[in-house]
Amino acid sequence: MLDTDFFRRWMTAAAASVEREANHLTELDSAIGDADHGSNLQRGFAAVTEVLEKDAPATPGAVLTLAGRRLISTVGGASGPLYGTLLRRTGKALGDDDEVTRTQFAQAFAAGVAAVGQLGGAQAGDKTMLDALLPAAEALAVSFDGAVDAARAGAEATVPMQARKGRASYLGERSIGHQDPGATSAALLVEALAAAATA
Ligand code: ADP
Ligand code: MG
Ligand code: MG
Repeated sequence: MLDTDFFRRWMTAAAASVEREANHLTELDSAIGDADHGSNLQRGFAAVTEVLEKDAPATPGAVLTLAGRRLISTVGGASGPLYGTLLRRTGKALGDDDEVTRTQFAQAFAAGVAAVGQLGGAQAGDKTMLDALLPAAEALAVSFDGAVDAARAGAEATVPMQARKGRASYLGERSIGHQDPGATSAALLVEALAAAATA
């Protein structure tokens, strides 16, 4: 079973990973965007860990909805509302349970990923975070480790794609040949999830 502390560990691990990889994420965003993805997520996840310590939400769903709200309120870029929606909708789908199974979580996460698609209007193959999130959500129904592999492969698969959503789409064909920053950070979030599961 996944308890409140598991979701707290997930957010803490995500914040640490984003902190470590901030320069890399910003480098990727400088190639096909505006060079702020690392700093956007650094600011957002630092605020998430801070509010989780302060407010100490009591259920898995409450941890994720609070984290999502915080991302939306602290990150100005596209990724704030998108990741914020992912976490809020996942949290909402978890309801008020004190503990959830991985299967329940996988279903909730899939609902969160679908909400990201609705908000941003992107689909698989558009060279966005969804190219990592969609395969990860599907693999999560089987295992955490499988979700990590799927997210990483999904992020790498964005390299040859031409962006059809977000800032990178303004570049047209020049967006080809670069890994999408959001798909890369999405893989980090899924890695943090697997790390929380083994801790
Ligand atoms: P901004 O582009 O506003 O500077 P970020 O740099 O933080 O925001 O985030 C960029 C990432 O957001 C992209 O690499 C992409 O993965 C993701 N993204 C942008 N627009 C969309 C969208 N409509 N749907 C899904 N993901 C998107
Ligand atoms: Mg950017
Ligand atoms: Mg920006």
